[in-house]
Order: sequence, then C-alpha cells, then structure tokens
Amino acid sequence: MTQTPKSPIVEEVLAANGAYVKTFGAKGDLALPPARRFAILTCMDARLDPAKYAGLAEGDAHVIRNAGGRACDDAIRSLVISHKLLGTREWFVVHHTNCGMELFTDQVIADLLEDNLETASFDGQAWSNPKHGGGSAAGHFIKWHTIKDQAASVLQGVRRIRQHPLVPNDIPIYGYVYDVRTGRLDPVEAAIEAGRPT
Ligand SMILES: [Zn+2]
Repeated sequence: MTQTPKSPIVEEVLAANGAYVKTFGAKGDLALPPARRFAILTCMDARLDPAKYAGLAEGDAHVIRNAGGRACDDAIRSLVISHKLLGTREWFVVHHTNCGMELFTDQVIADLLEDNLETASFDGQAWSNPKHGGGSAAGHFIKWHTIKDQAASVLQGVRRIRQHPLVPNDIPIYGYVYDVRTGRLDPVEAAIEAGRPT
C-alpha cells in the first residue's frame, strides 16, 4: 500500500493540532454565543492576530476576516448574524498600516489575472507576472475592495455598516488602524464618531 505523502504544511498543522487537543481542557463546554458579546471585522493579513491584539480567548468574540477588513456584503452578512442570532452588541472595524490592499487597484489585479494565474511579484513599484499565458478575464468582473488610505477605508466601512438597514441603531461601531510596527490600535476618530449609536 502506498500512501499519498502529506504536504509538510499539513503535517505541521496536524502536529500543532495534536498538541492543542492535549491542552484543550474545558473549552469543549463553551457556549456558542460569544461570551463578551462583541465582534471584530479585520484584515486577513498574517501579521495580525486579533486574539492577541485584542485579548481574546476561545469563546469570547466573533472575528470576521477578509482581504482588507472591508465591510463588503459578506462581512455585513456575518455581522448581522453575529448580532441577530448570537447576541453581539458592539462591533470594531480594524484595518492596518502597510496593508497589501493598498498596493494594487482593480485594474492592476484584473490585468495580472487576465495574463496569468500564478503568484505575481511586487518590486516596490509595480507588479509583474512570473510567466505569461493561461490567464482569465474573470477578474475584470470582480469588485476587489482595494484601499487608498487606511483611515478613509475604516470610515467607509463604519459608515456602510452604520447605514445598513439590517443593523440596529443602538450598536456602537468603532474604527481603528492597527500599526504593524508596534501592535498598537490607533483610533480613527471620524469613524468612531460615525459609528456612534443613533
Ligand atoms: Zn491588510
């Protein structure tokens, strides 16, 4: 019998999970609704660990992540479920410095994808494909939710959530920019103002 060799990453993840299971303790008894009744919408950036930067333990809060931490339809879907069915009562929108979403536009990524699907490289100025051919035009039909300015994008997100018809007026929505050099959450005052309960 030959077995398909596992990817080293899969081996590492399963080993880490085995160690986690050994120390899992009483977490199997946690309730489904977040105990601290709040949610964070943030970027998928690998340098950000919301459990650490916001002090979360398992069961504490909802964390909704996507590229940029943008308040797109699917993020709002999750936030509405978070409140309506699972009881969260305060929400944070957290973007961050040095976000990859600042490094391209809809046109740039669509053109790269139209040419080739392999991972592109960035030289500090422009993106380029490692090879050419085999791309798809489908990227021209997607809204990528890129970012020009972090404080502005946090404000946009908070305003969009605040004005959504399925979001109750009494949920405060806070806006912050996480600094990847220091780990600090810096408030975006205009967003916090826009996110006040009305
Ligand atoms: Zn990011």
